[in-house]
Amino acid sequence: MNYISTRGTPERLHFCDILLEGLAPDGGLYLPEFYPQVDEPTLNRWRQVYHQQGYAELAFEVLSLYIDDIPASDLRALCAKTYTAEVFGTGEIVPLRHLENNIWLEALSNGPTLAFKDMGMQLLGNLFEYELARRGETLNILGATSGDTGSAAEYAMRGKKGIRVFMTSPAGRMSAFQQAQMFSLMDDNIFNISIAGVFDDCQDMVKAVSRDLDFKRRYKIGTVNSINWARLLAQVVYYFAGYFQATEPLDSNQAKQVSFAIPSGNFGNACAGHVARMMGLPIAKLVVATNENDVLDEFFKTGVYRVRSSADTHETSSPSMDISKASNFERFIFDLLGRDGEQVKRLFADTLQQKGSFDLSMSSAFDDIRLRYGFESGKSTHSNRLDTIQDSFERHAMMIDPHTADGIKVAREHLQNGVPMIVLETALPLKFSQTIVQATGKEPDRLPKFEGLENMPRRVTAMAADVQAIKTFIAEHCCEV
Ligand SMILES: *Cc1c(COP(=O)(O)O)cnc(C)c1O
Repeated sequence: MNYISTRGTPERLHFCDILLEGLAPDGGLYLPEFYPQVDEPTLNRWRQVYHQQGYAELAFEVLSLYIDDIPASDLRALCAKTYTAEVFGTGEIVPLRHLENNIWLEALSNGPTLAFKDMGMQLLGNLFEYELARRGETLNILGATSGDTGSAAEYAMRGKKGIRVFMTSPAGRMSAFQQAQMFSLMDDNIFNISIAGVFDDCQDMVKAVSRDLDFKRRYKIGTVNSINWARLLAQVVYYFAGYFQATEPLDSNQAKQVSFAIPSGNFGNACAGHVARMMGLPIAKLVVATNENDVLDEFFKTGVYRVRSSADTHETSSPSMDISKASNFERFIFDLLGRDGEQVKRLFADTLQQKGSFDLSMSSAFDDIRLRYGFESGKSTHSNRLDTIQDSFERHAMMIDPHTADGIKVAREHLQNGVPMIVLETALPLKFSQTIVQATGKEPDRLPKFEGLENMPRRVTAMAADVQAIKTFIAEHCCEV
């Protein structure tokens, strides 16, 4: 399988060439040259694979269609090492549970950091370690986080040979649980850096370091952001696993199609659903759910993609969806526009830069969004999420987190008769207990392994929002150069 950029540069690369990369050199995102097609016999075989051999083996089947530069036995071992009941809590890895009527919840958040980012990031950690060892290289991962991404990255990379993680976060701005989760890590290769500032200050520091190409090369600086193709690819697998579970048993009169509702921010999760659908998984609708930061909902309803300023980006009770632009969105637009890289480049590099928006409402592609690609959308407000959390608790005795609540609220507006609707559960309530208490008056349940987490010893360095300071810190603590 070859990979191409969404902005039309003719270069063709293999999986391991892009594994450790972010953007393509032309500013685009990487996508496979085509989507391998999964026909019905294969789908039936994969169903057996999932039920009889497990999620890791299903992951191997999906991944091996996209990865031809890692020997099959190694890839299979990497999947088996990643998707274990020990790490993800159950043998199903992504168990489905029934909510009401035709609505199901697919649990993607039983990994180490209790959010769905573990699904992609845990595999990435093992792939990075494997590929770096094969090349005899090391990597220093520099990142900025306001919560879920940073902790998922740290838990994926902890203890990995040849990798160090330098994770900046805005001092005092993450939830108590999120801080405790990150700062209690004692692994030698993990460095928490608490910045006196807001998230944008952290992000700016990371960008400034990455722009210093000499420094970047010398200290082998890399990232693990949400545009990484390997992360996205790993997420394709649970769409298949969700489908198999919702259409069981096979020989009943049940629907042969399912829909998904996806709490969305940077569009990584939804884009993985798009890839699964393009491969031939029978998905009726992909319902994109946003919070008050409704860049995506606006696009899917009107055809206008308008990025927001930071002043226009709201802090909400589903903070992992508080985005000003959706960094994976360009991938879908590339497919929508018939993979015309020149046109994508004009839209993202020119029109968006100059005007802050582009408009496809008059394009013939606009109808394709719904009719051909199955995308629909909706949004929730804080009070919608509180109502949904309270309602699920009172009627179903189920505690759900605010991101999943957004998905359920929007899912209910897009139900079709006879088509199971699978809402992706992207985090556990424990991570966002303040909102849960506000909605239900009760603290969320705490797994025994998280007892007393907030009182554990902490390993964190406080720093001013100063680019030179972080460069010095990296130089002192990085993998040997
Ligand atoms: C990251 C995240 C999202 C948004 O996912 P995208 O792939 O960025 O669209 C939703 N919910 C939770 C809990 C997250 O951590």
